[in-house]
Amino acid sequence: MAYIKLDKSNLILNLNILARKAGSKEKIAVVLKDNAYGHGILEIAKIASEFGIKEAVVASFSEALKIKSYFKNILILGGEVVKDSKFSFAINDFESIKRLPKNLKLELKVDTGMHRNGISFDQLKDALKLIKQKELNLIGIMTHYRCADELSSEYFWQKKRFEEVKKIAFEMGFFNLRFHSHNSAALLRSSKFNEDIARVGIAIYGYNPLPKCFGDFNLKPVLSLWAKRVSSKILRAGERVGYGGDFIVKQEGIYSTYDLGYGDGWPRGDSKKAYILPDGKKIVGRVSMDFITLETDEEEVCIMDNAEVASKQFDTISYEMTTQLSPSIKRIVV
Ligand SMILES: *Cc1c(COP(=O)(O)O)cnc(C)c1O
Repeated sequence: MAYIKLDKSNLILNLNILARKAGSKEKIAVVLKDNAYGHGILEIAKIASEFGIKEAVVASFSEALKIKSYFKNILILGGEVVKDSKFSFAINDFESIKRLPKNLKLELKVDTGMHRNGISFDQLKDALKLIKQKELNLIGIMTHYRCADELSSEYFWQKKRFEEVKKIAFEMGFFNLRFHSHNSAALLRSSKFNEDIARVGIAIYGYNPLPKCFGDFNLKPVLSLWAKRVSSKILRAGERVGYGGDFIVKQEGIYSTYDLGYGDGWPRGDSKKAYILPDGKKIVGRVSMDFITLETDEEEVCIMDNAEVASKQFDTISYEMTTQLSPSIKRIVV
């Protein structure tokens, strides 16, 4: 079976770099949504918790349940709300405030410019009033940057707007809230981090979302993807490989299939632009549902050891390369 190796020491190295940037381990909330960006939610949660991380962020209640024992608080970004002392729920729109029951931990999401989820800036006072009136248990206010990874002024004006949000909350008598706006890009570029937590995703997995000019943070990829040999054969010049026969053998050689395909979340891509492995080998012909072919007979090959590098070949981003990897692929922590 194809498998994923998770490098524990690299994950700890990344967490250390990020904790230093944030000021302490307590200020890092690890973002574990979507199976920890495809890495394996349980494996990553366990290591992060052993390292001393207390906070996590997930997309849904079902994800939160899986990792409940590892953290002090888990912020759930959407979906079902269920009363639980360990979970806090993001309020994504004004209407839901009317429906929410008491005794849930809630964090109000304010839209400061991304225009995805969250109440608008103009609704803030009304929202806080209603929260007070209904005696809801608001523990935090958050926002999300749309361009923290770009060299532009956008990050700064959103940040400024969030400062105004904090001021308004204070003026309305909310004194014990936690505030958080930073994702990986924002935390890495910040010079004086001064919020209560940073919600860090891609950077813990070893990828720097910022352009080169922000410098190198020495983050190291945690995930590598490996496939095992299924069968080998000698093919002669002129013979074709795979569906459609797209690849034509130029010179006699040994070819093998390996147990990875688009059914495992590996991109099917374009056989005319062959994917190049870290060691320089190329995938030949089309990617099948469960197999790829390579010109070698090695027992095991490393398909990807840096999702950032691989993502360039498919015109996508590191996030998508790892997140789409099937949860059924075995994860091994080394
Ligand atoms: C996914 C997500 C993050 C993490 O973003 P990264 O760029 O991976 O650090 C932070 N906050 C929210 C609300 C998110 O949805």
